Amino acid sequence: MDFIPVCEPFLNGREMEYVQDCISTGWISSSGKYVKAFEEKFAEYCQVKYGVAVCNGTMALHLALVAAGIAPGDEIIIPNFTMIASAFAACYIGAIPVFVDAEPDTWNIDVSRIEEKITIRTKAIMPVSIFGQPCEMDKIWEIAKKYNLKIIEDAAESHGAEYRGKKTGNLADITAFSFFANKNLTTGEGGMVVTNNEVLYDRSRYYKNLCFPLDAPRNYNHSDIGYNYRMSNLHAAIGLAQVEKADEYRALRIKNRNFYQQFLTTIPGISIQETRSDVLNVHWMNGLVIDSELYGRTRTELINHLRENNIETRLFFIGMNRQPSLIKYGCSPDGNYPVTDNLSENGFYLPSGSNMTKDKIEFICEIINNYKR
Ligand SMILES: *Cc1c(COP(=O)(O)O)cnc(C)c1O
Repeated sequence: MDFIPVCEPFLNGREMEYVQDCISTGWISSSGKYVKAFEEKFAEYCQVKYGVAVCNGTMALHLALVAAGIAPGDEIIIPNFTMIASAFAACYIGAIPVFVDAEPDTWNIDVSRIEEKITIRTKAIMPVSIFGQPCEMDKIWEIAKKYNLKIIEDAAESHGAEYRGKKTGNLADITAFSFFANKNLTTGEGGMVVTNNEVLYDRSRYYKNLCFPLDAPRNYNHSDIGYNYRMSNLHAAIGLAQVEKADEYRALRIKNRNFYQQFLTTIPGISIQETRSDVLNVHWMNGLVIDSELYGRTRTELINHLRENNIETRLFFIGMNRQPSLIKYGCSPDGNYPVTDNLSENGFYLPSGSNMTKDKIEFICEIINNYKR
């Protein structure tokens, strides 16, 4: 079998045509029709009113926090098991990320543990839809209303996912997406903030573009310190082509998961992410958590064995409470996070790109199955 990478970008729509249009017309900066078209089309896909395209998902998260008015010293509840960008976005503001352990089955933030972390300084909750599965949003909304908190979703991994029939993007006050090369929809590098709230939309547009006045003539008079987080027309051209096929790409990722589930379930000591019945999980990545005692091999042994068979894998994230950068910054390393620890010690993900095939997934699962001791 040829080398099977963890993920490859999948571009099989009108990307080339739209990019060529940018180049032949000279519209390659952020002023160009594709930026607006991509924003509108993606917002529509998320069932929200507004989209603001930016240069990557990390900056989308930062911009969402800025738009929501998060200030230095504010505390933001985030999952301990997430990608580092969720926490860094808070740090850019001088806010303090406060960690909550994951649920053992869904791997999402454990909503039953949020309230104990709330203090007088808490201003927001940042749910992260890990590997494509939305969190228990009704409960998060309940808590947010009770304590008057903003909800800023990190949906970098969950384009098109649904919670009780509503899409990610439409589940929070403001939501950040990533279009990095391995995400379900990609522009190479890119991101977007989406919201139904006109004030948050205006603040996002304003801070994204150096705080140039929004609807006034350009007089180079800046009332606030802004950022240049603009997305180029070239990237938006790719994004528009991608979002035109969003349902197709979503179905491909879900199909991957169904094959993994079909071929893996019989192996003791191997578990996969459980999907709650009230969500549509878009399965950005298919992760495995291995119980070495039951499986008879360690994670390292299995990963090496897969590599010898030309199969690439990636380790799971390390808990935020164990990140040297965040501890240096002032986050508390204290507290017990047994679920995160188990995931980060025993989890890794398998090839999950939109161009995976049934044969490849069956081959990968056979290798895992036969290696059991
Ligand atoms: C990918 C990702 C990001 C960051 O997106 P970039 O576009 O790479 O900056 C943020 N949060 C999560 C959960 C991610 O998976």
